[in-house]
Amino acid sequence: MKYYLTPVLVLLFATGTFCQHAPTSDSVLAWLKSGNTLFVHGEFNLMGIDSSLRIELSKAQHPKAVILTCSDSRVAPELIFDKGLGDLFVIRVAGNISDDAVVGSIEYAVEHLHTSLVVVMGHKNCGAIAAAVADQQKPHEIDNHIRILTDKIEQAVAAVKLNESDASQKALLSNIIFTVSSLDESRPVLSEAVKKGELKIVGAVYDLSSGKVQWLDK
Ligand SMILES: [Zn+2]
Repeated sequence: MKYYLTPVLVLLFATGTFCQHAPTSDSVLAWLKSGNTLFVHGEFNLMGIDSSLRIELSKAQHPKAVILTCSDSRVAPELIFDKGLGDLFVIRVAGNISDDAVVGSIEYAVEHLHTSLVVVMGHKNCGAIAAAVADQQKPHEIDNHIRILTDKIEQAVAAVKLNESDASQKALLSNIIFTVSSLDESRPVLSEAVKKGELKIVGAVYDLSSGKVQWLDK
C-alpha cells in the first residue's frame, strides 16, 4: 500500500483536488518523515513520475513543503524524503543560509503556492560550516565570494562558545536555529503566516551516512 500512496497524493495535488483544503503543516511533516523512513530503508518510490504527471504539473504546482538546505551533492531533498516532481519547493545554498533572495523565494511559496511547512535542513560534515568554524577559531583571509557564506554562518554561531571537541556540531545546530528564528520573525509575510497558524518553520539535521533526518524541537 505504501508504495502507491505517494503517486496518488502527487496526482491529487497536481490536479488541484486538494487546493481548497491545503494540508496542514503537521500532516506535511508526517508525510516527510514517512518518506525519509522509506529512503533510509532503501525503498524508493519513483512510480507515478511519467509523462502524464509532467503534463499535469505543467499547468500548476502545489508543493507541500519548502526545503531550504545545503548545495552539497549528497543532500538531495527529493531523494531523502522519497518525493517526486512537484512535491517540494527546494532552495539550496551552501551552508543553508538565508538572505533576501532566499526569503523572497520562501515568501513566494507561502503566499502564492500556499505551502504550509518550511524545513531548514543542515547536514553533518558540512564543508561550509567547517570553513566558518575554522575562520572563527583562527581568522584567515578569504578574499572571494565564499566569504559571504562564512560571514553569514559566523554571525549565526557567534553566540556559541566554540571549543575544539564539539565546535562543528554546535555550529551546525546554531546555524539552523538562527535561520529558523530569522525566518519566523521575517516580516511581513512569514511572521504573519506563522502567527495565523498557517505556516510552521522547523529545523532538521541530515546524517550523510545513515540517511536519517533528525528533527529539531522548537
Ligand atoms: Zn553543506
